[in-house]
Amino acid sequence: MSLVTAPNNTPVWVNIARCKACDICVSMCPAGVLAMVPAPNSILGSMIEVVVPDACIGCKDCELHCPDFAIYVADRTEFKFAKLSDSSKERAEAVKHNKFRKLGA
Ligand code: SF4
Ligand code: SF4
Repeated sequence: MSLVTAPNNTPVWVNIARCKACDICVSMCPAGVLAMVPAPNSILGSMIEVVVPDACIGCKDCELHCPDFAIYVADRTEFKFAKLSDSSKERAEAVKHNKFRKLGA
């Protein structure tokens, strides 16, 4: 069970105050849900974004691998997650080849 209360009807969310923009969660996500976006006002230069929340399969790989406890996934009892589709897998590969940056950004 997560220590953080899930926002209503949200599969995955980020505490941007904790996020160090390390890309690890993006690299772990099998469904292409996450990506880095430019953040010109941040000293980090980029920030994580939940780009395609509807594609989240609830695997928690992002949450389990985040070194800063900055990303959270809803509990399976509270949210009905998607199934992993071919298009999600392809998007995940495309994001990885785009150096973890949001496609088209
Ligand atoms: S793994 Fe954690 S710290 Fe790294 S980009 Fe993702 S949310 Fe931010
Ligand atoms: S729970 Fe799994 S599918 Fe959802 S954002 Fe995290 S790594 Fe991606």
